[in-house]
Amino acid sequence: MKGCVFCKIINGDLPSDKIYEDDSFIVIRDINPVYRTHLLIITKKHISSVNEIEDPDRDIFSTVFLVAKKVAAKEGVEVNGYRLTVNCGKDAGQIVSHFHMHLLAGEPLRNL
Ligand code: AMP
Ligand code: ZN
Repeated sequence: MKGCVFCKIINGDLPSDKIYEDDSFIVIRDINPVYRTHLLIITKKHISSVNEIEDPDRDIFSTVFLVAKKVAAKEGVEVNGYRLTVNCGKDAGQIVSHFHMHLLAGEPLRNL
């Protein structure tokens, strides 16, 4: 999608600190981390938000938690724990309109 920052990262037009990639996802470090470990699990397909997920996308999302578990282990945070967050829309504070899941960890997280 033209003008989309995450599409640019996926296409290699913008640099990123990428720690994982497969057919459906890339995982990068957030440029503005709010916790010691702050990763973004990003669909390679441009899907603007959870609201835009369609039935044929179910294959993509069947693996999203497996990817989360894999990168949590890779980062060494699987034992102490982590939080997975998806913001959808304005009131949730979604600023990048391309599906991504935050993985937050590395220190005690504030209660929701
Ligand atoms: P959200 O509020 O869920 O849309 O969060 C978007 C996240 O993307 C924020 O935590 C930003 O810091 C992060 N972000 C924006 N641009 C970049 C970038 N170029 N590289 C890495 N993370 C980014
Ligand atoms: Zn995009």
